[in-house]
Amino acid sequence: MNANVKLPAAKGVFIDNTWQPARSGRTIAMLAPATGQVIASIAAGDAADIDLAVAAARRALEGPWGRLAAVERGRLLSKLGRLVEDNAEELAKLEAADTGKPMKQAKADIAAVARYFEYYGGAADKVHGDTIPFLDGFFVTTVYEPLGVTGHIIPWNYPGQMFGRTVAPALAMGNATVIKPAEEACLVPLRLAELAAEAGFPAGAINVVPGLGEEAGAALSAHDGIDFISFTGSPEVGTLVQTAAARNHIGCTLELGGKSPQIVFADADLDAALTSVAAAIVQNAGQTCSAGSRVLVERSIWDRFLADLTLRFEKITAGTPEMDLDLGPVISAVQKKRIENMLARAESGGARRVASGRIAEGVPGEGFYVAPALYQHVARDSELAREEVFGPVLAAMPFDDEADAIRLANDTEFGLVAGVWSGDGSRAMRVARKVKVGQMFVNGYGAGGGIELPFGGMKKSGHGREKGFEALYELAAMKTLIVKHG
Ligand code: NAD
Repeated sequence: MNANVKLPAAKGVFIDNTWQPARSGRTIAMLAPATGQVIASIAAGDAADIDLAVAAARRALEGPWGRLAAVERGRLLSKLGRLVEDNAEELAKLEAADTGKPMKQAKADIAAVARYFEYYGGAADKVHGDTIPFLDGFFVTTVYEPLGVTGHIIPWNYPGQMFGRTVAPALAMGNATVIKPAEEACLVPLRLAELAAEAGFPAGAINVVPGLGEEAGAALSAHDGIDFISFTGSPEVGTLVQTAAARNHIGCTLELGGKSPQIVFADADLDAALTSVAAAIVQNAGQTCSAGSRVLVERSIWDRFLADLTLRFEKITAGTPEMDLDLGPVISAVQKKRIENMLARAESGGARRVASGRIAEGVPGEGFYVAPALYQHVARDSELAREEVFGPVLAAMPFDDEADAIRLANDTEFGLVAGVWSGDGSRAMRVARKVKVGQMFVNGYGAGGGIELPFGGMKKSGHGREKGFEALYELAAMKTLIVKHG
Protein backbone atom coordinates (compact mmCIF):
# COMPACT_ATOMS: atom_id res chain seq x y z
CA MET A 1 0.00 0.00 0.00
CA ASN A 2 1.49 3.28 -1.05
CA ALA A 3 1.98 5.59 1.90
CA ASN A 4 0.70 8.70 0.17
CA VAL A 5 -2.82 7.36 -0.30
CA LYS A 6 -5.37 8.76 2.11
CA LEU A 7 -7.66 5.99 3.35
CA PRO A 8 -11.03 7.20 4.60
CA ALA A 9 -10.65 4.96 7.65
CA ALA A 10 -13.91 4.49 9.53
CA LYS A 11 -14.98 8.06 8.82
CA GLY A 12 -18.50 6.78 8.91
CA VAL A 13 -21.44 7.22 6.62
CA PHE A 14 -21.62 10.24 4.34
CA ILE A 15 -24.94 12.01 4.82
CA ASP A 16 -25.76 15.68 4.20
CA ASN A 17 -22.18 16.31 3.07
CA THR A 18 -20.76 15.28 6.43
CA TRP A 19 -19.18 12.15 7.85
CA GLN A 20 -21.24 10.69 10.62
CA PRO A 21 -20.50 7.54 12.61
CA ALA A 22 -22.78 4.62 11.82
CA ARG A 23 -25.62 4.63 14.36
CA SER A 24 -24.62 1.16 15.51
CA GLY A 25 -20.99 2.23 15.99
CA ARG A 26 -19.86 -0.94 14.20
CA THR A 27 -17.13 -1.06 11.58
CA ILE A 28 -15.98 -3.50 8.91
CA ALA A 29 -12.29 -4.29 8.25
CA MET A 30 -11.27 -3.91 4.61
CA LEU A 31 -8.70 -6.38 3.29
CA ALA A 32 -6.35 -5.68 0.40
CA PRO A 33 -6.82 -8.61 -2.02
CA ALA A 34 -3.17 -8.38 -3.05
CA THR A 35 -1.86 -9.01 0.47
CA GLY A 36 -4.79 -10.32 2.49
CA GLN A 37 -3.99 -7.60 5.04
CA VAL A 38 -6.34 -5.04 6.61
CA ILE A 39 -5.87 -1.66 4.94
CA ALA A 40 -8.82 0.31 6.24
CA SER A 41 -12.02 0.05 8.14
CA ILE A 42 -15.39 1.35 7.07
CA ALA A 43 -18.59 2.04 8.93
CA ALA A 44 -21.11 -0.78 9.03
CA GLY A 45 -24.16 1.27 8.15
CA ASP A 46 -27.56 -0.34 8.59
CA ALA A 47 -31.27 0.45 8.42
CA ALA A 48 -30.97 3.39 10.86
CA ASP A 49 -28.34 5.07 8.67
CA ILE A 50 -30.30 4.35 5.51
CA ASP A 51 -33.32 6.08 7.10
CA LEU A 52 -31.22 9.18 7.72
CA ALA A 53 -29.71 9.12 4.25
CA VAL A 54 -33.11 8.80 2.55
CA ALA A 55 -34.46 11.65 4.68
CA ALA A 56 -31.45 13.81 3.74
CA ALA A 57 -31.99 13.06 0.05
CA ARG A 58 -35.68 13.93 0.36
CA ARG A 59 -34.80 17.28 1.97
CA ALA A 60 -32.30 17.95 -0.82
CA LEU A 61 -35.07 17.62 -3.41
CA GLU A 62 -37.07 20.28 -1.57
CA GLY A 63 -33.99 22.45 -0.99
CA PRO A 64 -31.17 24.04 -3.00
CA TRP A 65 -30.44 20.85 -4.98
CA GLY A 66 -34.03 20.54 -6.15
CA ARG A 67 -34.09 24.18 -7.27
CA LEU A 68 -30.99 24.00 -9.46
CA ALA A 69 -31.51 24.41 -13.19
CA ALA A 70 -30.35 21.54 -15.39
CA VAL A 71 -27.43 23.61 -16.64
CA GLU A 72 -26.26 24.18 -13.05
CA ARG A 73 -26.50 20.49 -12.24
CA GLY A 74 -24.46 19.82 -15.36
CA ARG A 75 -21.79 22.29 -14.25
CA LEU A 76 -21.48 20.58 -10.87
CA LEU A 77 -21.12 17.19 -12.53
CA SER A 78 -18.46 18.54 -14.88
CA LYS A 79 -16.63 20.09 -11.96
CA LEU A 80 -16.66 16.77 -10.13
CA GLY A 81 -15.25 15.15 -13.27
CA ARG A 82 -12.38 17.64 -13.23
CA LEU A 83 -11.76 17.02 -9.53
CA VAL A 84 -11.58 13.29 -10.27
CA GLU A 85 -8.97 14.04 -12.93
CA ASP A 86 -7.03 16.29 -10.55
CA ASN A 87 -6.99 13.50 -7.96
CA ALA A 88 -6.60 10.65 -10.43
CA GLU A 89 -3.30 9.38 -9.07
CA GLU A 90 -4.61 9.14 -5.51
CA LEU A 91 -7.92 7.59 -6.60
CA ALA A 92 -6.19 5.01 -8.81
CA LYS A 93 -3.93 3.93 -5.94
CA LEU A 94 -6.94 3.68 -3.67
CA GLU A 95 -8.86 1.60 -6.23
CA ALA A 96 -5.87 -0.67 -6.83
CA ALA A 97 -5.29 -1.23 -3.11
CA ASP A 98 -8.97 -1.88 -2.48
CA THR A 99 -9.62 -4.25 -5.40
CA GLY A 100 -6.12 -5.63 -6.15
CA LYS A 101 -6.28 -4.68 -9.83
CA PRO A 102 -3.08 -3.67 -11.67
CA MET A 103 -2.31 0.05 -11.53
CA LYS A 104 -2.82 0.51 -15.27
CA GLN A 105 -6.36 -0.88 -14.98
CA ALA A 106 -7.07 1.23 -11.91
CA LYS A 107 -5.89 4.33 -13.79
CA ALA A 108 -8.12 3.47 -16.75
CA ASP A 109 -11.04 2.99 -14.34
CA ILE A 110 -10.52 6.40 -12.76
CA ALA A 111 -10.24 8.02 -16.19
CA ALA A 112 -13.64 6.45 -16.94
CA VAL A 113 -15.09 7.84 -13.69
CA ALA A 114 -14.03 11.34 -14.72
CA ARG A 115 -15.49 10.74 -18.16
CA TYR A 116 -18.87 9.67 -16.70
CA PHE A 117 -19.15 12.97 -14.85
CA GLU A 118 -17.98 14.91 -17.90
CA TYR A 119 -20.44 13.12 -20.20
CA TYR A 120 -23.47 13.38 -17.93
CA GLY A 121 -22.48 16.94 -16.99
CA GLY A 122 -22.78 17.87 -20.65
CA ALA A 123 -25.99 15.89 -21.07
CA ALA A 124 -27.88 17.30 -18.07
CA ASP A 125 -29.54 20.12 -20.05
CA LYS A 126 -30.07 18.17 -23.26
CA VAL A 127 -32.85 15.81 -22.32
CA HIS A 128 -36.08 17.24 -23.62
CA GLY A 129 -39.49 16.00 -24.52
CA ASP A 130 -41.58 16.03 -27.68
CA THR A 131 -44.63 17.87 -28.83
CA ILE A 132 -47.29 15.43 -29.96
CA PRO A 133 -49.98 16.23 -32.53
CA PHE A 134 -53.35 15.57 -30.89
CA LEU A 135 -56.95 16.64 -31.24
CA ASP A 136 -57.87 20.09 -32.37
CA GLY A 137 -57.75 22.51 -29.43
CA PHE A 138 -55.03 20.70 -27.54
CA PHE A 139 -51.31 21.24 -27.05
CA VAL A 140 -49.44 18.19 -25.83
CA THR A 141 -45.83 17.92 -24.78
CA THR A 142 -43.70 15.51 -22.78
CA VAL A 143 -41.30 16.67 -20.08
CA TYR A 144 -38.71 14.74 -18.10
CA GLU A 145 -38.72 15.25 -14.36
CA PRO A 146 -36.64 13.73 -11.56
CA LEU A 147 -37.94 10.44 -10.17
CA GLY A 148 -37.09 11.65 -6.66
CA VAL A 149 -34.76 9.73 -4.36
CA THR A 150 -32.83 7.06 -6.23
CA GLY A 151 -31.06 4.16 -4.50
CA HIS A 152 -27.88 2.68 -5.94
CA ILE A 153 -26.46 -0.65 -4.80
CA ILE A 154 -23.09 -1.17 -6.40
CA PRO A 155 -20.62 -4.06 -6.50
CA TRP A 156 -16.94 -4.42 -5.67
CA ASN A 157 -15.51 -5.19 -9.09
CA TYR A 158 -15.46 -1.58 -10.34
CA PRO A 159 -16.35 0.52 -7.30
CA GLY A 160 -15.37 3.86 -8.87
CA GLN A 161 -16.72 3.19 -12.34
CA MET A 162 -20.01 1.86 -11.00
CA PHE A 163 -20.44 4.99 -8.91
CA GLY A 164 -19.92 7.15 -12.01
CA ARG A 165 -22.07 4.95 -14.21
CA THR A 166 -25.17 4.93 -12.06
CA VAL A 167 -24.93 8.04 -9.89
CA ALA A 168 -23.88 10.59 -12.55
CA PRO A 169 -26.97 10.14 -14.76
CA ALA A 170 -29.24 10.12 -11.70
CA LEU A 171 -27.83 13.47 -10.60
CA ALA A 172 -27.94 14.85 -14.14
CA MET A 173 -31.71 14.26 -14.12
CA GLY A 174 -32.11 16.03 -10.77
CA ASN A 175 -32.58 13.04 -8.48
CA ALA A 176 -31.09 12.92 -4.99
CA THR A 177 -29.11 9.75 -4.41
CA VAL A 178 -28.40 7.19 -1.70
CA ILE A 179 -25.55 4.86 -2.53
CA LYS A 180 -24.76 1.52 -0.87
CA PRO A 181 -21.32 0.45 -2.09
CA ALA A 182 -20.01 -3.08 -1.61
CA GLU A 183 -18.49 -4.08 1.70
CA GLU A 184 -15.56 -5.77 -0.08
CA ALA A 185 -14.36 -2.59 -1.83
CA CYS A 186 -15.77 0.89 -1.41
CA LEU A 187 -12.94 3.27 -0.63
CA VAL A 188 -13.21 5.12 -3.95
CA PRO A 189 -16.99 5.67 -3.69
CA LEU A 190 -16.42 7.12 -0.20
CA ARG A 191 -13.71 9.44 -1.51
CA LEU A 192 -15.90 10.44 -4.47
CA ALA A 193 -18.62 11.56 -2.07
CA GLU A 194 -16.09 13.83 -0.39
CA LEU A 195 -14.97 15.21 -3.73
CA ALA A 196 -18.59 15.84 -4.70
CA ALA A 197 -19.02 18.03 -1.62
CA GLU A 198 -15.82 19.84 -2.58
CA ALA A 199 -17.23 20.38 -6.08
CA GLY A 200 -20.20 22.15 -4.50
CA PHE A 201 -23.02 19.58 -4.61
CA PRO A 202 -25.60 20.74 -2.05
CA ALA A 203 -26.10 18.66 1.08
CA GLY A 204 -28.21 15.57 0.58
CA ALA A 205 -27.75 15.22 -3.18
CA ILE A 206 -25.22 12.41 -2.68
CA ASN A 207 -25.35 10.20 0.41
CA VAL A 208 -23.17 7.12 0.78
CA VAL A 209 -23.91 4.44 3.35
CA PRO A 210 -21.34 1.63 3.36
CA GLY A 211 -22.34 -1.56 5.11
CA LEU A 212 -23.25 -5.19 4.69
CA GLY A 213 -25.56 -6.17 1.87
CA GLU A 214 -28.07 -7.95 4.06
CA GLU A 215 -28.22 -4.91 6.37
CA ALA A 216 -27.65 -1.61 4.56
CA GLY A 217 -28.40 -3.03 1.09
CA ALA A 218 -31.59 -4.78 2.10
CA ALA A 219 -32.74 -1.70 4.04
CA LEU A 220 -32.15 0.57 1.06
CA SER A 221 -33.92 -1.64 -1.45
CA ALA A 222 -36.95 -2.08 0.82
CA HIS A 223 -37.17 1.57 1.92
CA ASP A 224 -40.53 3.14 1.16
CA GLY A 225 -38.88 6.56 0.83
CA ILE A 226 -37.02 5.75 -2.38
CA ASP A 227 -38.49 6.18 -5.85
CA PHE A 228 -36.17 3.96 -7.87
CA ILE A 229 -33.41 1.45 -7.28
CA SER A 230 -30.45 0.61 -9.47
CA PHE A 231 -28.70 -2.66 -8.67
CA THR A 232 -25.58 -4.34 -10.02
CA GLY A 233 -24.46 -7.66 -8.59
CA SER A 234 -25.54 -11.27 -8.41
CA PRO A 235 -28.79 -12.64 -9.88
CA GLU A 236 -29.78 -13.97 -6.43
CA VAL A 237 -29.61 -10.55 -4.80
CA GLY A 238 -31.11 -8.96 -7.92
CA THR A 239 -34.22 -11.08 -7.35
CA LEU A 240 -34.45 -9.80 -3.77
CA VAL A 241 -34.01 -6.19 -4.89
CA GLN A 242 -36.64 -6.43 -7.61
CA THR A 243 -39.07 -8.11 -5.19
CA ALA A 244 -38.56 -5.29 -2.70
CA ALA A 245 -39.03 -2.71 -5.48
CA ALA A 246 -42.26 -4.40 -6.54
CA ARG A 247 -43.58 -4.16 -2.97
CA ASN A 248 -43.03 -0.39 -3.12
CA HIS A 249 -44.27 -0.16 -6.71
CA ILE A 250 -41.10 1.51 -7.90
CA GLY A 251 -38.92 0.88 -10.92
CA CYS A 252 -35.53 -0.76 -10.91
CA THR A 253 -32.67 -1.60 -13.19
CA LEU A 254 -30.81 -4.85 -12.67
CA GLU A 255 -27.37 -5.61 -14.04
CA LEU A 256 -26.61 -9.18 -13.07
CA GLY A 257 -23.65 -10.42 -15.02
CA GLY A 258 -23.28 -12.80 -17.91
CA LYS A 259 -21.63 -15.74 -19.61
CA SER A 260 -20.57 -13.78 -22.64
CA PRO A 261 -19.39 -15.64 -25.75
CA GLN A 262 -16.98 -14.63 -28.47
CA ILE A 263 -17.82 -16.57 -31.63
CA VAL A 264 -14.86 -17.13 -33.95
CA PHE A 265 -15.45 -18.27 -37.53
CA ALA A 266 -12.67 -19.77 -39.64
CA ASP A 267 -12.60 -16.75 -41.94
CA ALA A 268 -11.91 -14.27 -39.11
CA ASP A 269 -8.76 -12.26 -38.55
CA LEU A 270 -7.53 -14.91 -36.16
CA ASP A 271 -4.65 -12.94 -34.74
CA ALA A 272 -6.96 -10.09 -33.71
CA ALA A 273 -9.51 -12.57 -32.37
CA LEU A 274 -6.91 -14.41 -30.29
CA THR A 275 -5.65 -11.19 -28.72
CA SER A 276 -9.16 -10.09 -27.89
CA VAL A 277 -10.29 -13.48 -26.55
CA ALA A 278 -7.36 -13.68 -24.13
CA ALA A 279 -7.73 -10.04 -23.00
CA ALA A 280 -11.49 -10.24 -22.45
CA ILE A 281 -11.22 -12.86 -19.70
CA VAL A 282 -8.09 -11.48 -18.07
CA GLN A 283 -9.34 -7.94 -17.53
CA ASN A 284 -10.06 -7.40 -13.84
CA ALA A 285 -9.19 -11.07 -13.23
CA GLY A 286 -12.40 -12.07 -15.03
CA GLN A 287 -14.50 -10.24 -12.44
CA THR A 288 -16.34 -8.21 -15.04
CA CYS A 289 -20.02 -8.67 -15.78
CA SER A 290 -19.21 -8.59 -19.49
CA ALA A 291 -16.08 -10.77 -19.26
CA GLY A 292 -15.72 -12.87 -22.40
CA SER A 293 -15.91 -16.12 -20.49
CA ARG A 294 -16.74 -18.42 -23.42
CA VAL A 295 -14.95 -18.75 -26.74
CA LEU A 296 -16.89 -20.62 -29.41
CA VAL A 297 -14.65 -21.71 -32.26
CA GLU A 298 -15.58 -23.11 -35.70
CA ARG A 299 -14.55 -26.74 -35.69
CA SER A 300 -12.38 -26.47 -38.82
CA ILE A 301 -9.90 -24.20 -37.01
CA TRP A 302 -10.37 -25.63 -33.51
CA ASP A 303 -6.95 -27.34 -33.12
CA ARG A 304 -4.97 -24.43 -34.50
CA PHE A 305 -6.93 -21.81 -32.56
CA LEU A 306 -6.66 -23.70 -29.28
CA ALA A 307 -2.92 -24.23 -29.76
CA ASP A 308 -2.37 -20.50 -30.35
CA LEU A 309 -4.65 -19.53 -27.47
CA THR A 310 -2.77 -21.91 -25.19
CA LEU A 311 0.51 -20.20 -26.04
CA ARG A 312 -0.98 -16.79 -25.24
CA PHE A 313 -2.61 -18.01 -22.04
CA GLU A 314 0.60 -19.41 -20.68
CA LYS A 315 2.21 -15.98 -20.85
CA ILE A 316 -0.52 -14.27 -18.83
CA THR A 317 0.72 -13.40 -15.35
CA ALA A 318 -1.02 -12.30 -12.19
CA GLY A 319 0.69 -10.01 -9.70
CA THR A 320 0.24 -7.19 -7.22
CA PRO A 321 -1.10 -3.78 -8.33
CA GLU A 322 2.44 -2.37 -8.18
CA MET A 323 3.84 -5.17 -10.38
CA ASP A 324 1.26 -3.94 -12.90
CA LEU A 325 1.05 -7.20 -14.84
CA ASP A 326 -1.89 -8.65 -16.78
CA LEU A 327 -4.18 -9.20 -13.83
CA GLY A 328 -4.34 -9.01 -10.07
CA PRO A 329 -5.85 -11.28 -7.42
CA VAL A 330 -9.58 -11.90 -7.10
CA ILE A 331 -11.47 -9.86 -4.55
CA SER A 332 -11.61 -12.16 -1.52
CA ALA A 333 -10.80 -15.54 -0.04
CA VAL A 334 -14.49 -16.39 -0.45
CA GLN A 335 -14.43 -15.69 -4.18
CA LYS A 336 -11.16 -17.60 -4.61
CA LYS A 337 -12.63 -20.63 -2.88
CA ARG A 338 -15.83 -20.33 -4.90
CA ILE A 339 -13.84 -20.35 -8.15
CA GLU A 340 -11.66 -23.27 -7.05
CA ASN A 341 -14.72 -25.30 -6.09
CA MET A 342 -16.36 -24.58 -9.41
CA LEU A 343 -13.23 -25.69 -11.31
CA ALA A 344 -12.98 -28.89 -9.25
CA ARG A 345 -16.59 -29.68 -10.18
CA ALA A 346 -15.86 -28.91 -13.85
CA GLU A 347 -12.84 -31.19 -13.88
CA SER A 348 -14.66 -34.04 -12.23
CA GLY A 349 -17.34 -33.58 -14.91
CA GLY A 350 -14.77 -34.08 -17.69
CA ALA A 351 -13.57 -30.55 -18.51
CA ARG A 352 -9.83 -30.40 -19.12
CA ARG A 353 -7.53 -27.50 -18.29
CA VAL A 354 -5.37 -26.99 -21.39
CA ALA A 355 -3.47 -23.93 -20.26
CA SER A 356 -2.68 -22.07 -17.09
CA GLY A 357 -1.33 -18.60 -16.73
CA ARG A 358 1.19 -17.79 -14.06
CA ILE A 359 1.26 -16.14 -10.69
CA ALA A 360 4.32 -13.92 -10.44
CA GLU A 361 7.05 -14.83 -8.01
CA GLY A 362 7.08 -12.72 -4.91
CA VAL A 363 3.34 -12.09 -4.58
CA PRO A 364 2.28 -12.15 -0.91
CA GLY A 365 1.20 -15.64 0.08
CA GLU A 366 -1.93 -14.36 1.81
CA GLY A 367 -3.17 -12.61 -1.36
CA PHE A 368 -6.17 -14.04 -3.22
CA TYR A 369 -4.44 -15.05 -6.47
CA VAL A 370 -5.99 -17.40 -9.01
CA ALA A 371 -3.99 -18.56 -12.04
CA PRO A 372 -5.82 -17.86 -15.31
CA ALA A 373 -7.17 -21.07 -16.81
CA LEU A 374 -8.29 -22.22 -20.25
CA TYR A 375 -10.63 -25.23 -20.43
CA GLN A 376 -11.74 -27.51 -23.24
CA HIS A 377 -14.00 -30.59 -23.27
CA VAL A 378 -16.58 -28.39 -21.62
CA ALA A 379 -19.95 -30.14 -21.92
CA ARG A 380 -22.61 -27.85 -23.35
CA ASP A 381 -24.95 -28.39 -20.42
CA SER A 382 -22.28 -28.14 -17.73
CA GLU A 383 -21.97 -25.51 -15.02
CA LEU A 384 -18.74 -24.21 -16.57
CA ALA A 385 -20.49 -23.70 -19.93
CA ARG A 386 -23.49 -21.94 -18.46
CA GLU A 387 -22.75 -20.26 -15.13
CA GLU A 388 -20.71 -17.18 -14.36
CA VAL A 389 -17.35 -18.03 -12.77
CA PHE A 390 -16.38 -14.41 -12.09
CA GLY A 391 -12.73 -15.33 -12.27
CA PRO A 392 -10.02 -15.63 -14.99
CA VAL A 393 -11.45 -18.84 -16.43
CA LEU A 394 -12.22 -19.31 -20.11
CA ALA A 395 -14.35 -22.15 -21.47
CA ALA A 396 -13.52 -23.05 -25.10
CA MET A 397 -16.13 -24.95 -27.10
CA PRO A 398 -16.29 -25.93 -30.81
CA PHE A 399 -19.27 -25.35 -33.11
CA ASP A 400 -20.17 -26.86 -36.47
CA ASP A 401 -21.83 -24.11 -38.47
CA GLU A 402 -23.58 -20.75 -38.22
CA ALA A 403 -26.81 -22.16 -36.80
CA ASP A 404 -24.90 -24.18 -34.23
CA ALA A 405 -22.87 -21.10 -33.21
CA ILE A 406 -26.04 -19.10 -32.60
CA ARG A 407 -27.64 -21.97 -30.67
CA LEU A 408 -24.57 -22.35 -28.48
CA ALA A 409 -24.18 -18.60 -27.92
CA ASN A 410 -27.79 -18.41 -26.70
CA ASP A 411 -27.54 -21.59 -24.64
CA THR A 412 -27.23 -19.93 -21.23
CA GLU A 413 -29.72 -18.08 -19.08
CA PHE A 414 -27.63 -14.90 -19.46
CA GLY A 415 -27.72 -12.33 -22.25
CA LEU A 416 -25.38 -9.43 -21.61
CA VAL A 417 -22.62 -9.12 -24.24
CA ALA A 418 -21.32 -11.19 -27.14
CA GLY A 419 -18.82 -10.87 -29.97
CA VAL A 420 -18.66 -12.39 -33.43
CA TRP A 421 -15.49 -12.63 -35.49
CA SER A 422 -15.82 -13.24 -39.24
CA GLY A 423 -14.46 -11.89 -42.51
CA ASP A 424 -17.91 -12.36 -44.04
CA GLY A 425 -19.82 -9.19 -43.18
CA SER A 426 -23.22 -10.63 -44.04
CA ARG A 427 -22.68 -13.62 -41.81
CA ALA A 428 -21.40 -11.45 -38.98
CA MET A 429 -24.55 -9.33 -39.23
CA ARG A 430 -26.85 -12.36 -39.33
CA VAL A 431 -25.25 -13.78 -36.22
CA ALA A 432 -25.15 -10.40 -34.48
CA ARG A 433 -28.91 -10.01 -34.94
CA LYS A 434 -29.72 -13.49 -33.62
CA VAL A 435 -27.70 -13.57 -30.41
CA LYS A 436 -29.88 -12.46 -27.50
CA VAL A 437 -27.74 -9.89 -25.70
CA GLY A 438 -27.86 -6.21 -24.83
CA GLN A 439 -24.56 -5.40 -26.49
CA MET A 440 -23.01 -7.15 -29.50
CA PHE A 441 -19.53 -6.64 -30.92
CA VAL A 442 -18.54 -7.46 -34.50
CA ASN A 443 -14.84 -8.12 -35.09
CA GLY A 444 -13.91 -6.67 -31.72
CA TYR A 445 -14.75 -7.04 -28.07
CA GLY A 446 -14.46 -4.52 -25.28
CA ALA A 447 -15.86 -5.19 -21.89
CA GLY A 448 -18.89 -2.95 -21.72
CA GLY A 449 -17.77 -0.71 -24.55
CA GLY A 450 -17.46 3.04 -24.11
CA ILE A 451 -19.46 4.98 -21.59
CA GLU A 452 -21.47 6.57 -24.43
CA LEU A 453 -22.84 3.19 -25.48
CA PRO A 454 -26.06 1.90 -23.94
CA PHE A 455 -25.40 -1.19 -21.90
CA GLY A 456 -27.57 -3.75 -20.14
CA GLY A 457 -28.89 -7.23 -20.24
CA MET A 458 -31.56 -9.56 -21.49
CA LYS A 459 -32.75 -12.72 -19.74
CA LYS A 460 -31.03 -13.43 -16.41
CA SER A 461 -28.49 -10.65 -17.06
CA GLY A 462 -31.15 -8.20 -15.95
CA HIS A 463 -33.03 -5.33 -17.51
CA GLY A 464 -32.81 -1.62 -18.04
CA ARG A 465 -30.06 0.29 -19.79
CA GLU A 466 -27.16 2.18 -18.30
CA LYS A 467 -24.53 4.34 -20.00
CA GLY A 468 -25.19 6.69 -22.89
CA PHE A 469 -28.37 8.77 -23.08
CA GLU A 470 -30.50 5.72 -22.29
CA ALA A 471 -29.45 5.93 -18.64
CA LEU A 472 -30.92 9.42 -18.42
CA TYR A 473 -34.31 8.22 -19.58
CA GLU A 474 -34.23 5.30 -17.14
CA LEU A 475 -33.60 7.73 -14.30
CA ALA A 476 -36.31 10.26 -15.14
CA ALA A 477 -40.08 10.37 -14.99
CA MET A 478 -41.70 11.31 -18.28
CA LYS A 479 -44.78 13.41 -17.82
CA THR A 480 -47.26 14.00 -20.61
CA LEU A 481 -48.61 17.54 -20.36
CA ILE A 482 -51.97 17.96 -22.07
CA VAL A 483 -53.16 21.55 -22.42
CA LYS A 484 -56.68 22.20 -23.68
CA HIS A 485 -56.78 25.63 -25.15
CA GLY A 486 -60.02 25.38 -27.08
P1 NAD B 1 -23.83 -9.49 -4.35
O1 NAD B 1 -24.96 -9.47 -5.28
O2 NAD B 1 -23.99 -10.19 -3.04
O3 NAD B 1 -23.36 -7.99 -4.00
C1 NAD B 1 -23.56 -6.87 -4.82
C2 NAD B 1 -24.06 -5.70 -3.98
O4 NAD B 1 -25.32 -6.06 -3.40
C3 NAD B 1 -23.15 -5.34 -2.81
O5 NAD B 1 -23.18 -3.96 -2.58
C4 NAD B 1 -23.81 -6.06 -1.65
O6 NAD B 1 -23.52 -5.48 -0.39
C5 NAD B 1 -25.27 -5.90 -1.99
N1 NAD B 1 -26.15 -6.87 -1.36
C6 NAD B 1 -25.84 -8.13 -0.92
N2 NAD B 1 -26.92 -8.71 -0.36
C7 NAD B 1 -27.93 -7.83 -0.46
C8 NAD B 1 -29.30 -7.86 -0.08
N3 NAD B 1 -29.83 -8.91 0.53
N4 NAD B 1 -30.06 -6.78 -0.37
C9 NAD B 1 -29.54 -5.71 -0.99
N5 NAD B 1 -28.25 -5.62 -1.35
C10 NAD B 1 -27.44 -6.66 -1.09
O7 NAD B 1 -22.60 -10.08 -5.12
P2 NAD B 1 -21.32 -10.75 -4.44
O8 NAD B 1 -21.68 -11.72 -3.37
O9 NAD B 1 -20.43 -9.65 -4.06
O10 NAD B 1 -20.77 -11.57 -5.65
C11 NAD B 1 -21.37 -12.83 -5.94
C12 NAD B 1 -21.50 -13.01 -7.42
O11 NAD B 1 -22.26 -11.95 -7.98
C13 NAD B 1 -20.20 -12.94 -8.19
O12 NAD B 1 -19.51 -14.12 -8.15
C14 NAD B 1 -20.69 -12.58 -9.55
O13 NAD B 1 -21.14 -13.71 -10.22
C15 NAD B 1 -21.84 -11.67 -9.28
N6 NAD B 1 -21.44 -10.26 -9.38
C16 NAD B 1 -21.74 -9.62 -10.53
C17 NAD B 1 -21.37 -8.30 -10.68
C18 NAD B 1 -21.68 -7.56 -11.92
O14 NAD B 1 -21.02 -6.60 -12.25
N7 NAD B 1 -22.72 -7.94 -12.63
C19 NAD B 1 -20.68 -7.63 -9.68
C20 NAD B 1 -20.40 -8.32 -8.49
C21 NAD B 1 -20.80 -9.63 -8.37
